Amino acid sequence: MRRFDGKTLLVATHNAGKLEEFQQILTPLGIAVTSAAEHALPEPAETETSFVGNARIKAHAAARATGLPALADDSGLEITALDGAPGVYTADWAETPTGRDFIMAMEKTHAKLIAAGAPRPWHARFCCTLVLAWPDGHDEVFEGHATGQLVWPRRGTDGHGYDPMFQPSGERRTFAEMTHDEKNALSHRGAAIKALIQGCFT
Ligand code: IMP
Repeated sequence: MRRFDGKTLLVATHNAGKLEEFQQILTPLGIAVTSAAEHALPEPAETETSFVGNARIKAHAAARATGLPALADDSGLEITALDGAPGVYTADWAETPTGRDFIMAMEKTHAKLIAAGAPRPWHARFCCTLVLAWPDGHDEVFEGHATGQLVWPRRGTDGHGYDPMFQPSGERRTFAEMTHDEKNALSHRGAAIKALIQGCFT
């Protein structure tokens, strides 16, 4: 396992919600976080069919372009009654001609569950794969999951993406009804980051 011994880590995401979650966890460790947006990096096409494949595309493109170690995340929602959909296509379900609309994506998700006649509880899990890539081409991979159920109507205003309809196991609130710290302690991204910190930062 290669350790991170630099000062600055580039977080290769154009998603403001994800960037904020990474900053909250990495900044207290003394790691300066810079973003793909600050470096005006283009968003590479996510052409792979797995979370790890797409995370590798984003991390290696950013590390090559900047000469900095780069961390990329690929994540998504797997719904048991929909055979694991939307999976790597989670963001695609939110696409509109004018940008991503997660209210619409959640409504679409709910409509598909109803159309499938899926019995409640609607089991689902969030998955997160992190890839830390160095400019020389080396990388390390970490994974995290959050299991729970989808609820309707959606609840809560914090968080991003599908947070208002995801209620983690053992909880009565959705991710969007929790503080950032509460969500980080339970989330797929929090779990993957914990593994990354143990593997590369301590
Ligand atoms: P990508 O990893 O950028 O391809 O996008 C993953 C998709 O999953 C995005 O549309 C996110 O909104 C959604 N997603 C990933 N993690 C979370 C989360 O923690 N809460 C809500 N939605 C998420």
